[in-house]
Amino acid sequence: MAYAVLEHPPICFGVAGNDELIKKDTDYMTDFAGLDLAQPILRAIADEGYTTPTPIQGKSIPPLLDGRDLLGVAQTGTGKTAAFALPILDYLSEEPGKAVPNKPLALILAPTRELAGQINDSFRNYGRYLPLRSTVIFGGVSARPQIQAMNRGVHVLVATPGRLLDLMNQGQVRLDEVEIFVLDEADRMLDMGFVRDVKKIIAALPKERQTLLFSATMPKSVQSLADGLLDDPVRVEVAPAATTVEKVEQQVLFVPKDKKRALLGELLLDEDIARVLIFTRTKHGANRVARHLHQCGIEADAIHGNKTQNARQRALKGFRLGQVRALVATDIAARGIDVDGVTHVINFDLPNEPESYVHRIGRTARAGANGMAISFCDHDERAYLRDIEKTIRQSVPVMEDHPYHAVEIANDPGTAKRPQQQKKRQGQKQGQPRRNSGRWGRSGRGVRKAA
Ligand code: AMP
Repeated sequence: MAYAVLEHPPICFGVAGNDELIKKDTDYMTDFAGLDLAQPILRAIADEGYTTPTPIQGKSIPPLLDGRDLLGVAQTGTGKTAAFALPILDYLSEEPGKAVPNKPLALILAPTRELAGQINDSFRNYGRYLPLRSTVIFGGVSARPQIQAMNRGVHVLVATPGRLLDLMNQGQVRLDEVEIFVLDEADRMLDMGFVRDVKKIIAALPKERQTLLFSATMPKSVQSLADGLLDDPVRVEVAPAATTVEKVEQQVLFVPKDKKRALLGELLLDEDIARVLIFTRTKHGANRVARHLHQCGIEADAIHGNKTQNARQRALKGFRLGQVRALVATDIAARGIDVDGVTHVINFDLPNEPESYVHRIGRTARAGANGMAISFCDHDERAYLRDIEKTIRQSVPVMEDHPYHAVEIANDPGTAKRPQQQKKRQGQKQGQPRRNSGRWGRSGRGVRKAA
């Protein structure tokens, strides 16, 4: 499964909140063998079927191997997990000592349980030929097995902020040996209100360390977090938004709110819609849609924040295995879901943030495949559609010949009011104090890859 590095256009669109055009360059390593990674890691990558580093990997791995801090503007789907996991594993594999109970050497903080689980799976996959241990801790499930894993000792810890703080307070996790810290999906972390927890965790880290921050977007709040956290970072930007947008065939259907469910049932009569991710704005909406699909005889499940962790994992597994044809999700629950072969994304409700639209449709057309996104737009959502089209800089084709197409909505864009915006991102008032300069490195090791 080769990542289509060369298919990217020379210029990509900026993402929401960042209007400037991001120029792409091809000045990065395009060959895994040239990346100076340890043999067991190259073997694991080959097992995964990766032949070419993605742009974020080609650009990030060399400076990370040199011990630099990094600011990565990239979203899930770009291969960013391997971009940080491979150099971390490479570093740890140089002197793979026994894992010390409760004291990880690398910490990856992720906003959602799903994403944390996937990151841990990636570490296990890429590190399968290395004598290194990793684990994941998140809330919503019993802490006992997580504590046991920490007591046995791990080299790599992947965690969501709340449960990590709990276990830190109980003395089950100590961060004083952390040498590499990754803050993943920083924008979402702040959106979800984790800023205080994140700051507490950062305060418990050693000053001397390598730090990586990844974010799909760079609002001011994230920039100020990055300014306080990173020491002379390399900035790496990839703009999958445009490449994703270009690969996905998009369509919009103007339809009154009360006809959306019937329309969905009708659309899913088409068996080509084999694995479909359906987005709703609310958790209740997700449940209602999943129930309706069940009544239509379609295997469907819902995934959102009110579901237990086990129920979410079950739904995700069913979807992955193809037992569940339609997974109905809210934006936050779907964030970071990495399921290959999603043939269609349906926006049952349009999101009020154009950037969410780009994230949503990016769930299909992964790793070089094509995909299709169909959006239902009622009268109140016309303003959202306008914002989306402005951001992606193209108009979304209208399915005018569909029996559900509502001409009156299509013809009446002027009166559409912008529905009330959801709460704004939480801003961060103060940056973290800058840490001392000096490179990370376990005692006696010095700067890696030097000489
Ligand atoms: P991520 O952005 O880390 O969630 O990765 C998105 C998807 O790309 C995952 O399914 C990875 O397995 C896949 N992937 C990551 N790196 C590569 C690569 N170099 N070649 C092909 N697929 C990749």
